[in-house]
Amino acid sequence: MGEPFAERLERLAREADGELAATSDLAELEAWRVRFLGKSGRLTEELKRIGTLSVEERPHAGQLVNQIKGRLEGAQGQRREALAARAQEARLAAEAVDVTLPGRGRWLGGLHPLTQALRRIEDIFAILGFDWAWGPEIEDEFHNFEALNIPAHHPARAMHDTFYLASGGLLRTHTSTVQIRFMEHHEPPFRIIAPGRVYRADALDPTHSPVFHQVEGLVVAEGIHMGHLKATLKEFLERFFERALSMRLRPSYFPFTEPSAEVDIGCLLCGGTGCRVCKGTGFIEVLGCGLVHPAVLARIGIDAERYTGFAFGMGVERLLMLKDGVPDVRLFYENDLRFLRSLR
Ligand SMILES: [Zn+2]
Repeated sequence: MGEPFAERLERLAREADGELAATSDLAELEAWRVRFLGKSGRLTEELKRIGTLSVEERPHAGQLVNQIKGRLEGAQGQRREALAARAQEARLAAEAVDVTLPGRGRWLGGLHPLTQALRRIEDIFAILGFDWAWGPEIEDEFHNFEALNIPAHHPARAMHDTFYLASGGLLRTHTSTVQIRFMEHHEPPFRIIAPGRVYRADALDPTHSPVFHQVEGLVVAEGIHMGHLKATLKEFLERFFERALSMRLRPSYFPFTEPSAEVDIGCLLCGGTGCRVCKGTGFIEVLGCGLVHPAVLARIGIDAERYTGFAFGMGVERLLMLKDGVPDVRLFYENDLRFLRSLR
């Protein structure tokens, strides 16, 4: 005969105890139950063997199996509760919110100050009845110079030194090119602005940048005169700077307008009494303008006897520097968040 029944049962019970203590979750516990207490489990198998024992041994053996079975079932119940509690704790720990932690800030994006200024300018001119026109940044000599009364050896070309491409094109020096392109395909009357990026072969310094933004305007219709020009610009400037302004036109020269003028407004800082910003004059220059030169209209094929027009051009960076007191044009291109946020 092999090992006595009672001893084998005690050994089985110890193994069951050891393996139960090693279970770490409810799935392992269920596997343990199947292994020892299931229909084909080890303890059930022992119960079936009782029939092979002698008649004298049977009652005691049956009692022993039932005792161990009862104990293991009880131990299993306790283990189940312990494991369930442990699982619950782990779940709560994972979901826990520490209300003492500092909040996580949200980083909201925003439009660049130049984009905001461009939109403001476009909105104001939309109120004044202007359409928008767009054109390419890579231009040809005709649209950038010749059509605007600037022939090859004209001294004005020196003020418009730009970047020439190997392909023969050039980077436009003003958005007046868009006005030419617009006039090639439209009949007067019209009112347009041409906002966009322009280029000059300038070194980057506090007041110059090789790339900057312009908004040019053009009105062509019958009977347009300086009065229309002055009223339009005054309305625009007062809306842009959000205050009543004194304004004056100072005679100037541009190849594509005649007469031409620089537009000055009363100094935003001192209000006209004279200060460092206006160099004691009480005025600051904001943009250039004039009546469209009849030769420009004629070259495009517009009847210069019948139609007259006015045009103006402004630097967006310059207007924004005046409005918000930005001391250096380079700040617009460095993308320093402290600066960008200050103009939100
Ligand atoms: Zn001043």
